[in-house]
Amino acid sequence: MTTTRARSLRRPATPLASAPADSARHVTVIGAGLGGLAAAIRLRHHGFRVTVLERHAHPGGRCGLWESAGFRFDTGPTLLLMVDYLRGLFAEVGRPIERYLELRQLDPNYRVHYADGTTLDITSRLNAMLEGIERIEPGAGPRFLRFLSETAHLYRIGLDGFVDRNVHRRGDFFNLRNAGLLLRARAMEQLQRMVRRYFATEKLQHTFSFQSLYLGLSPFDSPAIYSLLPYAEVAGGLYFPMGGMHAMPRALARLAEEMGVRIEYGRDVESFERADGRIGAVILADGSRVEADLVLANADLPYVYETLLGEKYPRIDRFDFSCSAFLMYLGVNRSYPELTHHALVVPRDLRATCDAIFSGRVPDDPAYYICNPSKTDPSLAPPGSENIYVLVPVPSQLPGREIDWSIRGPRLEAEMLDRLERFGLTDLRRHIVTRRTFTPADFALEFSATRGEAFGLAHGIDQVGYFRPHNRHPRLGNLYFVGQSTHPGCGIPMVLISSRLVVERMAEEQGVRP
Ligand SMILES: Cc1cc2nc3c(=O)[nH]c(=O)nc-3n(C[C@H](O)[C@H](O)[C@H](O)COP(=O)(O)OP(=O)(O)OC[C@H]3O[C@@H](n4cnc5c(N)ncnc54)[C@H](O)[C@@H]3O)c2cc1C
Repeated sequence: MTTTRARSLRRPATPLASAPADSARHVTVIGAGLGGLAAAIRLRHHGFRVTVLERHAHPGGRCGLWESAGFRFDTGPTLLLMVDYLRGLFAEVGRPIERYLELRQLDPNYRVHYADGTTLDITSRLNAMLEGIERIEPGAGPRFLRFLSETAHLYRIGLDGFVDRNVHRRGDFFNLRNAGLLLRARAMEQLQRMVRRYFATEKLQHTFSFQSLYLGLSPFDSPAIYSLLPYAEVAGGLYFPMGGMHAMPRALARLAEEMGVRIEYGRDVESFERADGRIGAVILADGSRVEADLVLANADLPYVYETLLGEKYPRIDRFDFSCSAFLMYLGVNRSYPELTHHALVVPRDLRATCDAIFSGRVPDDPAYYICNPSKTDPSLAPPGSENIYVLVPVPSQLPGREIDWSIRGPRLEAEMLDRLERFGLTDLRRHIVTRRTFTPADFALEFSATRGEAFGLAHGIDQVGYFRPHNRHPRLGNLYFVGQSTHPGCGIPMVLISSRLVVERMAEEQGVRP
């Protein structure tokens, strides 16, 4: 089987809402997650013809939506930070973001609840942040400012040197300049040692290091470079798209379609057909066959290799996968005034909790996070009701130590309902109108996550940058990757960056001038 290589096309001068020239290179994008949609938009902007094949009936992937009894639940991401990367996507294609999304900055960003009942509001208002910090640890205010200054530096080094650029060529990653930057900034020292230099109390040490859990990584096993995350939260603020996080993929899908991208839902890709060192065709579960010119896989990378290509990603068995999440979506017919939009509940012994998660056990005293988006957007629940989302970090399925979630799930749900009532959500059970849970087993089923992980491949220092699976297959020259398991990694800003990097690479390698 051969495929005709169509002539490459320069970006047209005419507005892209018009139909692309038939001679333009065609890209089949597999998956309408945030990474796939953002890449489709950027590809179309470069003049490619683009078709997105998505197995579900809606866009968003992990950034999904569950509707029940008048409640609208975001199913995955809830914290929108580093919002400039989202704005940048719209700006790049010349569309005002305000036409597609209403973004609200939150204040506070979130509330941290400690085991002794005290709280700290994390906010981007510096005076309020300093006041809160001094309450927890008198005298820590000036040290917090120095912490911000050091992490601002790490943020720039991390983003400019390693994250926001293609690093598939050895020389782009391993060079004297990068090594010097990392060493001078002590970016590779242990995150815990770094936060201890600034804060004497465990409370503040935990508050400014737990964010590595966003990457599915233990804060007790992370390098200091990941302190760029608490910096990004405080310095850049947290935002919320009105209508819920799912409004984001909806907006990207709308923009993509306006630009001429074709999105086909309910199209489950089953395998790839190879031809002459490239992908010749994409085979769908219904037996149909789509001739391939260029293929961009947004589905989880380890799964694409193993299931669609029929070859395991090299050394995948030695890769660490991120942790997973046990999720509860609760629609309640009352309001809980004491809840903020985002709340983080820190257990008495965070280290023991993290050790349990990363050795394959559900912690006895879990850390958890509560999201109550009705506080910002009451339209997400019926009048007088609230929409409560609970995320408990749990292990992904470690080989030989798999958890049977059909048994553990209902038990953990009951334990969590007790815990939430003790936490202060009085009579919670009595007020639940609708509810649903989502477990690591569901991540495997719904998103083909190899180990039921929530956040893709882990982000240890030996699994990022050059060491992370690259965004193009090493031998099949027309197969590219976008999303959380390729460079740079997991999280909304990261997959948006991933989309820009892979499109730059595709344009360069396919001779399309940006
Ligand atoms: C519970 C949870 C909470 C999170 N919280 C945050 C947060 O607060 N802030 C943040 O920034 N990030 C957060 N993240 C991370 C963030 O959501 C992800 O990194 C990001 O959404 C991943 O996008 P993606 O495009 O890489 O992949 P996905 O969203 O997984 O998209 C892949 C798409 O491919 C489709 N697909 C798969 N296989 C096939 C096939 N064979 N045929 C056709 N289609 C297929 C899937 O249906 C899916 O739509 C969270 C993630 C989870 C799971």
